[in-house]
Amino acid sequence: MPEGIFEPSKFDYTLSERDPETFKGAVLEHLGRTSAMGALVWNHLVDARVVVPDRFTLNSRDWVSHSRGAGDIELGTKPMDPATKERLLFQDSSFTYPDEVAYRLNHEAAHGLYFLSQREGATRELVELVRAARESAGGQRGLTALGSSGYYHGQDKFLEDTTELMAMHTWDPQYLAEYLRFLGDPMFESIRTANGLVTMRDSDLISGLVNSSVEQSLRTAQQ
Ligand SMILES: [Zn+2]
Repeated sequence: MPEGIFEPSKFDYTLSERDPETFKGAVLEHLGRTSAMGALVWNHLVDARVVVPDRFTLNSRDWVSHSRGAGDIELGTKPMDPATKERLLFQDSSFTYPDEVAYRLNHEAAHGLYFLSQREGATRELVELVRAARESAGGQRGLTALGSSGYYHGQDKFLEDTTELMAMHTWDPQYLAEYLRFLGDPMFESIRTANGLVTMRDSDLISGLVNSSVEQSLRTAQQ
């Protein structure tokens, strides 16, 4: 696509405090502009009533976000501090503020994808792989830095690892592919250890399961 057709999204954190409704529209528009699959997922979840737009709310006091079932999503709009952003967001320096919040919304949407496909073979296999990877490291390190963060405990760590891998794929399959290369590259061992990540060289297996799981979710409506 030629450059210059779209103005880059220019909205900032203060808009979420001043005008939450405009902010919500701007984040969704930015998600649609940045991630074709992310926008498709959002629309599918709305159709399947896994996400109810009237129950999409903002929390400007935190960056931490939640999906609470019954269609609720609470999006934290506060920017992550640089150290947290570097630890939790792969290729953090390429994420502008609009990218960061659109990615968080995409992650919350991925919880809905997981919900839709949780009984399917590919998703169950993915969860088992995620669980085995984390258990091999005593629980504290796993396939995603998000799952390793102190916000999550026990089973919730596996759920976050699984959801975050799905979110990376729906953001951009190439982004997940680059992340999986990073997980297997001996050069980045010390960064992985510092960020709570294990080494994993089965990138084709993981990307295949994530892809099947997301595809299955997109074929499934809520029961
Ligand atoms: Zn989550």
